[in-house]
Amino acid sequence: MPSLHVAIIGAGIIGLSTAFELLSRGCEVTVIDPDPGQGASRAAAGMLAPAAETTWGQGILHELLGASNQRYPQFVERIEQATGLRPDYLRNATLVVASEPADRDALHELVQLQTNLGFSAEVLLPSAARRLEPALASNIAGAVRCAGDHQIDPRSVVRILAGHLDAHLDAHLVREPAVELLQRAGATRAVRTGSGRIIEADQVVLAAGLGTVAGAPRLPLRPVYGDIFRLQGPSGPPLLQHTVRGIVHRDPVYLVPRADGSLVLGASSREDGNEAVNIGQMHRLLDNARRLVPGIVDCSLNEVIARARPGTPDDRPLVGRLDDGLVLSTGYSRHGVLLTPFGSALAADLVQGLPPNAEHARAVDPARFTDPARFTDPRRAGGHAAPTRMEMHR
Ligand SMILES: Cc1cc2nc3c(=O)[nH]c(=O)nc-3n(C[C@H](O)[C@H](O)[C@H](O)COP(=O)(O)OP(=O)(O)OC[C@H]3O[C@@H](n4cnc5c(N)ncnc54)[C@H](O)[C@@H]3O)c2cc1C
Repeated sequence: MPSLHVAIIGAGIIGLSTAFELLSRGCEVTVIDPDPGQGASRAAAGMLAPAAETTWGQGILHELLGASNQRYPQFVERIEQATGLRPDYLRNATLVVASEPADRDALHELVQLQTNLGFSAEVLLPSAARRLEPALASNIAGAVRCAGDHQIDPRSVVRILAGHLDAHLDAHLVREPAVELLQRAGATRAVRTGSGRIIEADQVVLAAGLGTVAGAPRLPLRPVYGDIFRLQGPSGPPLLQHTVRGIVHRDPVYLVPRADGSLVLGASSREDGNEAVNIGQMHRLLDNARRLVPGIVDCSLNEVIARARPGTPDDRPLVGRLDDGLVLSTGYSRHGVLLTPFGSALAADLVQGLPPNAEHARAVDPARFTDPARFTDPRRAGGHAAPTRMEMHR
Protein backbone atom coordinates (compact mmCIF):
# COMPACT_ATOMS: atom_id res chain seq x y z
CA MET A 1 0.00 0.00 0.00
CA PRO A 2 1.47 3.44 -0.91
CA SER A 3 2.32 5.56 2.13
CA LEU A 4 0.23 8.58 3.10
CA HIS A 5 1.63 11.82 1.65
CA VAL A 6 1.28 14.75 4.06
CA ALA A 7 2.02 18.40 3.19
CA ILE A 8 2.93 20.47 6.23
CA ILE A 9 2.77 24.26 6.00
CA GLY A 10 5.28 25.81 8.42
CA ALA A 11 8.72 24.65 9.56
CA GLY A 12 8.77 26.04 13.08
CA ILE A 13 9.24 23.65 15.99
CA ILE A 14 5.62 22.47 15.60
CA GLY A 15 5.68 21.79 11.84
CA LEU A 16 9.11 20.13 11.99
CA SER A 17 8.28 17.91 14.95
CA THR A 18 4.99 16.91 13.29
CA ALA A 19 6.98 15.98 10.17
CA PHE A 20 9.40 13.98 12.34
CA GLU A 21 6.50 12.15 14.00
CA LEU A 22 4.82 11.34 10.67
CA LEU A 23 8.09 10.16 9.08
CA SER A 24 8.68 7.84 12.02
CA ARG A 25 5.17 6.45 11.44
CA GLY A 26 5.97 5.62 7.79
CA CYS A 27 4.39 8.64 6.05
CA GLU A 28 5.93 10.71 3.26
CA VAL A 29 6.09 14.44 4.07
CA THR A 30 6.57 17.69 2.19
CA VAL A 31 7.25 20.68 4.46
CA ILE A 32 6.65 24.11 2.95
CA ASP A 33 8.26 27.22 4.46
CA PRO A 34 10.20 30.12 2.90
CA ASP A 35 12.19 30.65 6.09
CA PRO A 36 12.38 27.49 8.25
CA GLY A 37 12.84 28.06 11.96
CA GLN A 38 12.82 31.85 11.81
CA GLY A 39 9.43 32.47 13.48
CA ALA A 40 8.62 32.36 17.20
CA SER A 41 10.72 29.20 17.55
CA ARG A 42 13.85 31.28 16.80
CA ALA A 43 13.26 33.47 19.86
CA ALA A 44 11.94 30.96 22.40
CA ALA A 45 13.91 30.46 25.61
CA GLY A 46 12.90 26.80 25.70
CA MET A 47 11.79 26.63 29.31
CA LEU A 48 9.88 23.42 30.00
CA ALA A 49 8.31 24.73 33.16
CA PRO A 50 4.77 23.51 33.82
CA ALA A 51 5.08 24.06 37.60
CA ALA A 52 6.65 27.52 37.47
CA GLU A 53 4.08 28.55 34.81
CA THR A 54 1.10 27.73 37.02
CA THR A 55 -1.68 30.33 36.95
CA TRP A 56 -5.27 30.35 38.24
CA GLY A 57 -8.12 29.11 36.07
CA GLN A 58 -6.10 27.03 33.59
CA GLY A 59 -6.47 23.51 35.03
CA ILE A 60 -6.74 21.65 31.72
CA LEU A 61 -3.91 23.66 30.14
CA HIS A 62 -1.65 22.72 33.06
CA GLU A 63 -2.60 19.09 32.63
CA LEU A 64 -1.44 19.33 28.99
CA LEU A 65 1.78 21.12 29.96
CA GLY A 66 2.55 18.51 32.62
CA ALA A 67 1.78 15.61 30.24
CA SER A 68 3.96 17.09 27.49
CA ASN A 69 6.81 17.71 29.93
CA GLN A 70 6.72 14.04 30.93
CA ARG A 71 7.09 13.03 27.27
CA TYR A 72 10.22 15.16 26.79
CA PRO A 73 12.94 12.63 27.75
CA GLN A 74 11.50 10.10 25.30
CA PHE A 75 11.02 12.77 22.59
CA VAL A 76 14.70 13.76 22.87
CA GLU A 77 15.75 10.09 22.90
CA ARG A 78 13.78 9.37 19.72
CA ILE A 79 15.34 12.34 17.91
CA GLU A 80 18.79 11.15 18.92
CA GLN A 81 18.08 7.59 17.80
CA ALA A 82 16.74 8.70 14.41
CA THR A 83 19.37 11.35 13.62
CA GLY A 84 22.43 10.54 15.73
CA LEU A 85 22.24 14.08 17.11
CA ARG A 86 21.03 15.05 20.56
CA PRO A 87 19.12 18.31 21.13
CA ASP A 88 20.51 20.52 23.92
CA TYR A 89 18.14 19.29 26.64
CA LEU A 90 19.17 20.13 30.20
CA ARG A 91 17.46 18.67 33.27
CA ASN A 92 18.64 21.45 35.55
CA ALA A 93 15.40 22.32 37.50
CA THR A 94 14.03 25.82 38.03
CA LEU A 95 14.18 28.28 40.92
CA VAL A 96 11.41 30.86 41.21
CA VAL A 97 12.79 33.76 43.23
CA ALA A 98 11.02 36.66 44.97
CA SER A 99 13.19 39.74 44.89
CA GLU A 100 11.41 41.82 47.55
CA PRO A 101 9.42 40.95 50.70
CA ALA A 102 6.34 42.25 48.82
CA ASP A 103 6.93 39.64 46.09
CA ARG A 104 6.86 36.80 48.66
CA ASP A 105 3.03 36.69 48.67
CA ALA A 106 3.12 35.85 44.99
CA LEU A 107 5.46 32.94 45.76
CA HIS A 108 3.09 31.59 48.42
CA GLU A 109 0.22 31.86 45.97
CA LEU A 110 2.26 29.93 43.40
CA VAL A 111 3.14 27.14 45.82
CA GLN A 112 -0.50 26.73 46.79
CA LEU A 113 -1.52 26.43 43.14
CA GLN A 114 1.33 24.05 42.34
CA THR A 115 0.42 21.81 45.26
CA ASN A 116 -3.25 21.77 44.21
CA LEU A 117 -2.23 20.70 40.69
CA GLY A 118 0.13 17.98 41.99
CA PHE A 119 3.39 19.64 40.86
CA SER A 120 6.46 19.37 43.06
CA ALA A 121 7.46 22.66 44.72
CA GLU A 122 10.01 23.04 47.52
CA VAL A 123 9.93 26.31 49.48
CA LEU A 124 13.45 27.58 50.25
CA LEU A 125 14.73 30.19 52.66
CA PRO A 126 16.83 32.89 50.95
CA SER A 127 19.98 31.39 52.49
CA ALA A 128 19.17 27.92 51.09
CA ALA A 129 18.44 29.40 47.65
CA ARG A 130 21.79 31.19 47.71
CA ARG A 131 23.58 27.99 48.67
CA LEU A 132 22.11 26.46 45.50
CA GLU A 133 22.80 29.55 43.41
CA PRO A 134 25.52 31.76 44.96
CA ALA A 135 25.08 34.33 42.16
CA LEU A 136 21.64 35.33 43.50
CA ALA A 137 21.51 38.79 45.12
CA SER A 138 22.14 38.80 48.87
CA ASN A 139 18.79 40.53 49.56
CA ILE A 140 16.37 38.11 47.81
CA ALA A 141 13.22 37.47 49.85
CA GLY A 142 12.51 33.79 49.15
CA ALA A 143 12.47 31.06 46.55
CA VAL A 144 10.74 27.90 45.37
CA ARG A 145 12.53 25.02 43.68
CA CYS A 146 10.57 23.28 40.91
CA ALA A 147 12.45 20.00 40.54
CA GLY A 148 10.58 18.85 37.41
CA ASP A 149 10.93 22.07 35.36
CA HIS A 150 13.78 21.83 32.85
CA GLN A 151 14.81 23.39 29.52
CA ILE A 152 15.79 22.69 25.92
CA ASP A 153 17.42 24.89 23.30
CA PRO A 154 14.65 25.10 20.64
CA ARG A 155 17.20 26.13 18.01
CA SER A 156 18.96 22.79 18.45
CA VAL A 157 15.66 20.94 17.89
CA VAL A 158 14.87 22.97 14.75
CA ARG A 159 18.39 22.53 13.36
CA ILE A 160 18.41 18.77 13.90
CA LEU A 161 14.88 18.18 12.59
CA ALA A 162 15.40 20.38 9.49
CA GLY A 163 18.62 18.42 8.77
CA HIS A 164 16.65 15.18 9.21
CA LEU A 165 14.22 16.33 6.48
CA ASP A 166 17.09 17.10 4.13
CA ALA A 167 18.58 13.64 4.69
CA HIS A 168 15.37 11.54 4.66
CA LEU A 169 14.31 9.83 1.41
CA ASP A 170 10.60 10.29 2.20
CA ALA A 171 10.88 13.99 3.07
CA HIS A 172 11.04 17.18 1.01
CA LEU A 173 11.55 20.73 2.20
CA VAL A 174 10.10 23.36 -0.16
CA ARG A 175 11.53 26.81 0.61
CA GLU A 176 8.56 28.82 -0.62
CA PRO A 177 5.47 30.29 1.02
CA ALA A 178 2.20 28.38 0.77
CA VAL A 179 -0.27 30.85 -0.71
CA GLU A 180 -3.48 28.85 -1.15
CA LEU A 181 -5.22 25.68 0.00
CA LEU A 182 -6.96 23.91 -2.89
CA GLN A 183 -10.09 21.86 -2.26
CA ARG A 184 -11.80 19.00 -4.08
CA ALA A 185 -15.29 17.88 -3.08
CA GLY A 186 -15.13 19.97 0.10
CA ALA A 187 -11.79 18.57 1.29
CA THR A 188 -8.31 20.15 1.11
CA ARG A 189 -6.22 18.13 -1.33
CA ALA A 190 -3.37 20.40 -2.45
CA VAL A 191 -1.32 23.51 -1.66
CA ARG A 192 -0.34 26.23 -4.12
CA THR A 193 3.08 27.74 -3.39
CA GLY A 194 4.41 31.22 -4.15
CA SER A 195 5.95 30.11 -7.47
CA GLY A 196 2.61 28.63 -8.59
CA ARG A 197 3.65 25.03 -7.94
CA ILE A 198 0.80 22.72 -6.87
CA ILE A 199 1.67 20.18 -4.16
CA GLU A 200 -0.93 17.41 -4.02
CA ALA A 201 -1.33 15.62 -0.67
CA ASP A 202 -3.55 13.05 1.02
CA GLN A 203 -3.54 15.31 4.08
CA VAL A 204 -2.40 18.89 4.77
CA VAL A 205 -1.28 20.15 8.20
CA LEU A 206 -1.45 23.91 8.71
CA ALA A 207 1.30 24.67 11.26
CA ALA A 208 2.25 28.18 10.15
CA GLY A 209 2.15 29.90 13.55
CA LEU A 210 0.67 33.35 12.84
CA GLY A 211 1.05 32.89 9.05
CA THR A 212 -1.99 32.95 6.79
CA VAL A 213 -2.92 31.03 3.63
CA ALA A 214 -5.85 31.74 1.29
CA GLY A 215 -8.57 29.15 1.65
CA ALA A 216 -7.94 28.57 5.38
CA PRO A 217 -10.57 29.76 7.87
CA ARG A 218 -9.98 32.92 9.88
CA LEU A 219 -8.44 31.89 13.20
CA PRO A 220 -8.63 33.54 16.65
CA LEU A 221 -4.89 34.33 16.72
CA ARG A 222 -3.07 37.50 17.73
CA PRO A 223 0.64 38.38 17.87
CA VAL A 224 2.04 38.68 21.40
CA TYR A 225 5.53 40.11 20.93
CA GLY A 226 8.46 39.15 23.10
CA ASP A 227 11.89 40.81 23.30
CA ILE A 228 14.68 38.52 24.48
CA PHE A 229 18.50 38.56 24.94
CA ARG A 230 21.18 35.94 24.35
CA LEU A 231 24.25 36.61 26.54
CA GLN A 232 27.68 35.09 26.88
CA GLY A 233 28.49 34.36 30.53
CA PRO A 234 31.78 35.54 32.07
CA SER A 235 34.76 33.19 31.71
CA GLY A 236 35.26 30.71 34.54
CA PRO A 237 32.52 28.70 36.25
CA PRO A 238 28.98 29.26 34.91
CA LEU A 239 27.03 32.10 36.55
CA LEU A 240 23.97 29.89 37.17
CA GLN A 241 23.14 26.18 37.29
CA HIS A 242 19.33 26.38 37.50
CA THR A 243 16.92 28.28 35.33
CA VAL A 244 16.01 31.29 37.48
CA ARG A 245 12.61 32.89 37.13
CA GLY A 246 12.33 36.02 39.17
CA ILE A 247 9.70 38.44 40.23
CA VAL A 248 11.11 41.88 40.84
CA HIS A 249 8.65 44.51 42.05
CA ARG A 250 5.93 42.21 40.69
CA ASP A 251 7.61 42.22 37.30
CA PRO A 252 8.68 38.90 35.75
CA VAL A 253 12.12 38.12 34.33
CA TYR A 254 14.01 34.89 33.66
CA LEU A 255 17.54 33.66 33.09
CA VAL A 256 18.11 30.32 31.36
CA PRO A 257 21.71 29.05 31.55
CA ARG A 258 22.82 26.82 28.66
CA ALA A 259 25.43 24.05 28.91
CA ASP A 260 27.91 26.11 26.82
CA GLY A 261 27.98 28.93 29.41
CA SER A 262 25.63 31.24 27.50
CA LEU A 263 22.40 32.58 29.03
CA VAL A 264 18.99 33.54 27.70
CA LEU A 265 17.44 36.56 29.40
CA GLY A 266 13.75 37.27 28.76
CA ALA A 267 11.17 38.15 27.99
CA SER A 268 8.72 40.96 27.46
CA SER A 269 5.10 40.51 26.46
CA ARG A 270 3.53 43.27 24.42
CA GLU A 271 0.66 43.58 21.97
CA ASP A 272 1.65 46.85 20.31
CA GLY A 273 1.98 45.41 16.81
CA ASN A 274 5.63 46.51 16.60
CA GLU A 275 7.93 43.82 15.20
CA ALA A 276 11.12 45.66 16.15
CA VAL A 277 12.98 45.18 19.44
CA ASN A 278 11.65 47.60 22.05
CA ILE A 279 14.37 49.49 23.91
CA GLY A 280 12.21 50.29 26.96
CA GLN A 281 11.38 46.59 27.44
CA MET A 282 15.04 45.63 27.06
CA HIS A 283 16.08 48.16 29.67
CA ARG A 284 13.45 46.90 32.11
CA LEU A 285 14.51 43.26 31.61
CA LEU A 286 18.19 44.03 32.12
CA ASP A 287 17.50 46.11 35.20
CA ASN A 288 15.34 43.37 36.78
CA ALA A 289 17.88 40.68 35.92
CA ARG A 290 20.65 42.74 37.53
CA ARG A 291 18.66 43.09 40.76
CA LEU A 292 18.20 39.33 40.91
CA VAL A 293 21.65 38.23 39.70
CA PRO A 294 24.07 41.18 40.00
CA GLY A 295 26.85 39.32 38.13
CA ILE A 296 24.84 39.59 34.93
CA VAL A 297 26.63 42.88 34.26
CA ASP A 298 29.81 40.90 33.51
CA CYS A 299 28.17 39.07 30.59
CA SER A 300 28.61 40.13 26.99
CA LEU A 301 25.79 40.56 24.51
CA ASN A 302 25.39 37.92 21.77
CA GLU A 303 21.98 38.82 20.38
CA VAL A 304 18.76 40.75 20.93
CA ILE A 305 15.68 39.56 19.06
CA ALA A 306 11.92 40.12 19.03
CA ARG A 307 9.33 37.67 17.72
CA ALA A 308 5.57 37.24 18.03
CA ARG A 309 4.02 34.36 19.95
CA PRO A 310 0.90 32.99 18.22
CA GLY A 311 -1.57 33.91 21.00
CA THR A 312 -5.11 32.55 21.45
CA PRO A 313 -7.91 33.93 23.68
CA ASP A 314 -7.47 31.15 26.30
CA ASP A 315 -3.72 30.46 25.84
CA ARG A 316 -4.50 26.93 24.64
CA PRO A 317 -3.40 25.86 21.14
CA LEU A 318 -5.70 25.20 18.19
CA VAL A 319 -5.23 21.57 17.14
CA GLY A 320 -7.96 19.72 15.27
CA ARG A 321 -9.40 18.58 11.99
CA LEU A 322 -10.88 21.36 9.84
CA ASP A 323 -12.01 19.22 6.87
CA ASP A 324 -11.40 15.71 5.52
CA GLY A 325 -8.00 16.75 4.18
CA LEU A 326 -6.90 19.48 6.60
CA VAL A 327 -5.54 19.39 10.17
CA LEU A 328 -4.73 22.60 12.07
CA SER A 329 -1.89 22.85 14.62
CA THR A 330 -1.09 26.38 15.75
CA GLY A 331 -1.82 28.94 18.48
CA TYR A 332 0.75 27.53 20.92
CA SER A 333 1.08 30.96 22.53
CA ARG A 334 3.82 31.02 25.20
CA HIS A 335 3.96 27.23 25.57
CA GLY A 336 4.87 25.95 22.09
CA VAL A 337 8.23 24.44 22.94
CA LEU A 338 6.90 22.68 26.03
CA LEU A 339 3.83 21.46 24.12
CA THR A 340 5.83 20.14 21.14
CA PRO A 341 5.76 16.41 22.07
CA PHE A 342 2.04 16.63 22.83
CA GLY A 343 1.11 18.74 19.77
CA SER A 344 3.13 16.76 17.24
CA ALA A 345 1.73 13.41 18.42
CA LEU A 346 -1.83 14.74 18.43
CA ALA A 347 -1.55 16.21 14.91
CA ALA A 348 -0.06 12.93 13.65
CA ASP A 349 -2.90 10.94 15.26
CA LEU A 350 -5.45 13.22 13.58
CA VAL A 351 -3.71 12.88 10.19
CA GLN A 352 -3.73 9.08 10.48
CA GLY A 353 -7.28 8.92 11.84
CA LEU A 354 -6.13 7.38 15.13
CA PRO A 355 -8.21 8.07 18.26
CA PRO A 356 -6.42 10.65 20.45
CA ASN A 357 -6.87 11.18 24.21
CA ALA A 358 -10.44 12.52 24.04
CA GLU A 359 -10.18 15.02 26.90
CA HIS A 360 -6.90 16.47 25.67
CA ALA A 361 -8.12 16.70 22.06
CA ARG A 362 -11.27 18.44 23.25
CA ALA A 363 -9.25 21.00 25.27
CA VAL A 364 -7.41 22.18 22.14
CA ASP A 365 -10.19 21.67 19.56
CA PRO A 366 -10.47 24.86 17.44
CA ALA A 367 -14.25 24.32 17.38
CA ARG A 368 -14.42 25.69 20.95
CA PHE A 369 -14.40 29.15 19.34
CA THR A 370 -16.77 28.41 16.43
CA ASP A 371 -19.20 26.11 18.24
CA PRO A 372 -18.96 27.09 21.94
CA ALA A 373 -22.21 25.31 22.87
CA ARG A 374 -20.34 21.99 22.57
CA PHE A 375 -17.76 23.18 25.08
CA THR A 376 -19.74 24.35 28.09
CA ASP A 377 -18.37 22.00 30.75
CA PRO A 378 -16.47 24.52 32.93
CA ARG A 379 -13.79 22.03 34.08
CA ARG A 380 -13.08 20.89 30.54
CA ALA A 381 -13.35 24.32 29.00
CA GLY A 382 -10.95 25.60 31.68
CA GLY A 383 -12.24 29.17 31.50
CA HIS A 384 -10.35 32.24 30.47
CA ALA A 385 -7.00 32.65 32.15
CA ALA A 386 -7.04 35.06 35.08
CA PRO A 387 -3.49 36.37 35.32
CA THR A 388 -2.01 36.18 38.79
CA ARG A 389 0.81 38.25 40.16
CA MET A 390 3.14 35.37 39.37
CA GLU A 391 2.27 35.21 35.68
CA MET A 392 5.47 34.95 33.69
CA HIS A 393 6.04 36.23 30.20
CA ARG A 394 7.80 33.76 27.99
C1 LIG B 1 10.39 35.68 23.36
C2 LIG B 1 9.73 34.33 23.35
C3 LIG B 1 10.06 33.40 24.33
C4 LIG B 1 9.43 32.16 24.36
N1 LIG B 1 9.81 31.24 25.31
C5 LIG B 1 9.19 30.03 25.35
C6 LIG B 1 9.60 29.08 26.32
O1 LIG B 1 10.51 29.33 27.14
N2 LIG B 1 8.95 27.87 26.35
C7 LIG B 1 7.94 27.56 25.47
O2 LIG B 1 7.38 26.47 25.57
N3 LIG B 1 7.55 28.45 24.52
C8 LIG B 1 8.15 29.67 24.44
N4 LIG B 1 7.77 30.59 23.50
C9 LIG B 1 6.64 30.25 22.60
C10 LIG B 1 7.11 29.43 21.41
O3 LIG B 1 8.19 30.08 20.79
C11 LIG B 1 5.99 29.26 20.38
O4 LIG B 1 4.80 28.82 20.99
C12 LIG B 1 6.41 28.24 19.33
O5 LIG B 1 7.67 28.58 18.79
C13 LIG B 1 5.40 28.16 18.20
O6 LIG B 1 5.95 27.31 17.21
P1 LIG B 1 5.30 27.23 15.77
O7 LIG B 1 6.08 26.25 15.00
O8 LIG B 1 3.83 27.05 15.88
O9 LIG B 1 5.46 28.72 15.18
P2 LIG B 1 6.72 29.42 14.50
O10 LIG B 1 7.98 29.09 15.15
O11 LIG B 1 6.35 30.86 14.40
O12 LIG B 1 6.77 28.77 13.05
C14 LIG B 1 5.82 29.05 12.06
C15 LIG B 1 6.50 28.86 10.70
O13 LIG B 1 5.50 28.98 9.70
C16 LIG B 1 6.08 29.64 8.60
N5 LIG B 1 5.00 30.22 7.79
C17 LIG B 1 4.17 31.25 8.10
N6 LIG B 1 3.32 31.48 7.09
C18 LIG B 1 3.64 30.57 6.13
C19 LIG B 1 3.11 30.31 4.83
N7 LIG B 1 2.09 31.01 4.30
N8 LIG B 1 3.68 29.32 4.10
C20 LIG B 1 4.71 28.58 4.59
N9 LIG B 1 5.23 28.77 5.80
C21 LIG B 1 4.69 29.77 6.57
C22 LIG B 1 7.01 30.66 9.21
O14 LIG B 1 8.04 31.04 8.27
C23 LIG B 1 7.56 29.92 10.41
O15 LIG B 1 8.81 29.28 10.13
C24 LIG B 1 8.42 31.84 23.40
C25 LIG B 1 8.11 32.75 22.41
C26 LIG B 1 8.76 34.00 22.37
C27 LIG B 1 8.42 34.97 21.26
